[in-house]
Amino acid sequence: MPELPEVEHVTNALRGVVLGRTIEKASLLRQRLAPDIKPAAFSKKLAGATIESITRRGKHILLGLDYGNTLIVHLRMSGRFHLLTPDDEDPKFSHAILYFKDGERLVFQDQRHFGLMKIVKTKGLPNTRELSKLAPEPFSDEFSVEYLASVLARSNKPIKEFLLDQTKVCGVGNIYASETLFLSRISPRKRAKSIRGKAVVELHKNIPIVLNEAIDLTKTIIPDPVIIGEGVYGAGSQMRWRVYDREGKECPECSSPILRIRQGTRSTYFCAKCQR
Ligand SMILES: [Zn+2]
Repeated sequence: MPELPEVEHVTNALRGVVLGRTIEKASLLRQRLAPDIKPAAFSKKLAGATIESITRRGKHILLGLDYGNTLIVHLRMSGRFHLLTPDDEDPKFSHAILYFKDGERLVFQDQRHFGLMKIVKTKGLPNTRELSKLAPEPFSDEFSVEYLASVLARSNKPIKEFLLDQTKVCGVGNIYASETLFLSRISPRKRAKSIRGKAVVELHKNIPIVLNEAIDLTKTIIPDPVIIGEGVYGAGSQMRWRVYDREGKECPECSSPILRIRQGTRSTYFCAKCQR
């Protein structure tokens, strides 16, 4: 499942190829991709619009259009974009297509059928169900030590599960939660509200460090001319994680065996000696 670093990569790659293009017509081929809008209205709202901005908020890709609308896209499990020429055939599982005036088209393909699209008024974007409850971006000034301390203090959850809650901290997926806690020397089982003082400062510092490591890795991927962001989805497997997916292997700090526990429905990896 693409996490924040992968979505950041796809957002940047899309910006490089479709920013400034004008949509001539649009087709919604699978209703469940955009459950709030009928295919005819989907086409009507997008036809004639120029893509003025392409940004990311959490794991949502935002295509800002002139005429005051924004197309929100969530890749979920397997959504991906293909930029095709008139000679190319649509891939299997093509669920939406934006046809550009220059003849090329952007196809949203989704093998697992969990992707989502929504067209909203750009003015109302911060108040949409998708974005209104999201925590501040981890690289923004809003995500301050004070902010983090205040949300930690109000949560009784184990810190690992707290970090996955996108309304408290945005963009930390399962891998990055284990890695961040290892760097911060905090036990994943510790209650969020018991983390105070220096530990909050460490956590606040390490969240963007871990996310940036993954973003930097995605920058080494050679762009595919057709599939936007191709190669990025498996990029995580090339990372040399400190604790994630290393059950029984040596801790890079103290050589104790890395432990794996289940928290919620997910696996957590940690070093019981380094993380207290
Ligand atoms: Zn250790």
